[in-house]
Amino acid sequence: MKTDDLRDQADQTTVLKNPPAGISESQREGVFVNGFICQHCGLHFNLFSWKANRHRADNTFCPECGRRGAYIHYRKMLSDKTCRDESSQDEIFRHVPWPGSQLMSDSVIMATPQKKDGRK
Ligand SMILES: [Zn+2]
Repeated sequence: MKTDDLRDQADQTTVLKNPPAGISESQREGVFVNGFICQHCGLHFNLFSWKANRHRADNTFCPECGRRGAYIHYRKMLSDKTCRDESSQDEIFRHVPWPGSQLMSDSVIMATPQKKDGRK
């Protein structure tokens, strides 16, 4: 099987197994990518969200050093659509997992996404 075939298969699997969860479509404001540069340790990382202002320098923890606050923070709106567009290249599921990534053994995969109140 060619690499492109495997990638296409992985993309389709990701779409099917990861339905929108966390916030309802009525709360979605679009698709945003926040770029952070940690001033403590220098790590650069991107964080995707459906909310424009959910992730800020004062409430985001650096995945490398665990600190917060001292960041250079960038944000780009990838989409202003308030509902998921399966055909768009700007949806988060198009960017995560990164192409060619391996599923890691510490993954915790729930059969059914939990609701915010803990119910299934
Ligand atoms: Zn850091």
